[in-house]
Amino acid sequence: MGASGPDAVQPVTVHRPARAVAPARRWSVEAVQALLDQPLNDLLFEAQTVHRAHFPEGDIELATLLSVKTGGCPENCGYCPQSAEFDTGVKAGKLMEVDEVVGAARAAKAAGATRFCMGAAWRAPRDRDVEKVAALVAAVKDLGLQTCATLGMLEADQARQLRAAGLDYYNHNLDTAPEYYGDVVSTRVYQDRLDTLAHVRAAGISVCCGGIVGMGETPVHRAGLIAQLANLEPYPESVPINSLVRVPGTPLADSEPIDPLDFVRMIAVARITMPKARVRLSAGRQQLGEAVQALCFLAGANSIFYGDKLLVTGNPDVETDVQLLRKLGLKARRVANEESCA
Ligand code: SF4
Repeated sequence: MGASGPDAVQPVTVHRPARAVAPARRWSVEAVQALLDQPLNDLLFEAQTVHRAHFPEGDIELATLLSVKTGGCPENCGYCPQSAEFDTGVKAGKLMEVDEVVGAARAAKAAGATRFCMGAAWRAPRDRDVEKVAALVAAVKDLGLQTCATLGMLEADQARQLRAAGLDYYNHNLDTAPEYYGDVVSTRVYQDRLDTLAHVRAAGISVCCGGIVGMGETPVHRAGLIAQLANLEPYPESVPINSLVRVPGTPLADSEPIDPLDFVRMIAVARITMPKARVRLSAGRQQLGEAVQALCFLAGANSIFYGDKLLVTGNPDVETDVQLLRKLGLKARRVANEESCA
């Protein structure tokens, strides 16, 4: 072939935007912003490259979330239908009994879940609540499932008690950037979240911590959230990225929805900055559709909440998820009791 034939490969120079160099394990907001601003294909390529270096098998972890105590929460998180301040139709309930929770955990395991998360709508549990949740944790752990709980703010001794009962993970989200936090919730401050995360870490419990986008935050706030998460020492083992489910009656019900491709960008940047974390597609997955979810998996998401309900909002039904994973050639992770997802 001549120089002008199809075999003539011309060297291609890829112009990448200048990126602030982050010192090892520390991410500035500007550095995260530079990642978010990349051309989408460059960002996806980088995220998928990082992903394959750390998760070569391409498996998807299935997690199931059960609301063990619903509604009536005294906090005023602007996105949450369980706050007692908002008229959302969610009725306050009592903490579920052990046998009810075990039944749900058994069903989740049979459906393929490997981790079972129990959520309770509390500002902070009382010591007697922690005792009861510890019994739930021990019972779920006995089924051979990883255990996770999200109960609000924890004191150091409460975290130790839950660890002793067999708690593997504690979920406590940072929600958004510190600068935007006061626009979302006013009944606590960012430092409260960081303190609970520190207590959880000190107790030897793995951390599940992420945030929510589509709450009216700016792109800089989104970069700020990722920088906060990535700069935790160490960064969380699980990073749920939620797209706001706009529930009527909550203050954020009329927020402008996030562009789906901006959501994909958030997943990719979470993957790049926290390479060993399980990045989880969480609330709002139902609204994304199959094609955007596929892009999220390409961007490095490797965990989903699985089941018909995510606390009190809808989630794609189990059969739809099974079909989607099959269509994409992804494998559900069914290994229980792995020590760490990283
Ligand atoms: S997100 Fe949690 S702490 Fe905030 S109102 Fe809802 S249940 Fe309460």
